[in-house]
Amino acid sequence: MKCEIIKDLLPSYLDGLTSEASNSEIENHLKNCQDCTVLLEKMKTTINSDTENMKVNREAIKPFKKLNKRIIQAVLITLASSIFIVCMYIYLFGIGWRVHSDDLEISYSYNQNTILLDFELTNGKVLNAWTTPEKSCSVIRFTESFKSVLDDRGEHPNQFSYGIHYLNEDGQKRYFDDECIRLQFQNQTQTIYLKEVAEELGLQKTNSKDDLQ
Ligand SMILES: [Zn+2]
Repeated sequence: MKCEIIKDLLPSYLDGLTSEASNSEIENHLKNCQDCTVLLEKMKTTINSDTENMKVNREAIKPFKKLNKRIIQAVLITLASSIFIVCMYIYLFGIGWRVHSDDLEISYSYNQNTILLDFELTNGKVLNAWTTPEKSCSVIRFTESFKSVLDDRGEHPNQFSYGIHYLNEDGQKRYFDDECIRLQFQNQTQTIYLKEVAEELGLQKTNSKDDLQ
């Protein structure tokens, strides 16, 4: 038989579709023909690796599909609960958003040895003040939020007062030197020097350090 005919028959031969007569013809030919033997071996390995690949793919895809669903579910649940928690946190504890300096009115007053810095939020929201005490310049960070059910700050939750003792325990006036309050807003940081506040309230004159001692 000619090689061409054998080569045509090889795929069928591999699949076991050829007759016994053809089989013996093919096998006889293969004994004496290296070309066709090599081709047959190639075909065998290709088929084997194909089926192997398919098996591997199927096995890999199955649990991956399941895992995918689980991952997507987990991600969605985590995302939903995170959003919920963040919303509840903002709502219940009134952390809120940074205040714009235009929305806050500042006024000073003096009462019972204490200088009061009064802050009032004028945009109808609730004012939250987060103070960080520092030796010379304390920081107040302002945020605004919607009124919360847990809010117990009474009728004026849009107001906040910051008190500074002007008279010491022994009744002596304090001189503020470089003491200040830094107000952190959404758009800027404003510095209020206590010396200037005291001067504005008529408590302390400029360069009056010597008079006080
Ligand atoms: Zn041949």
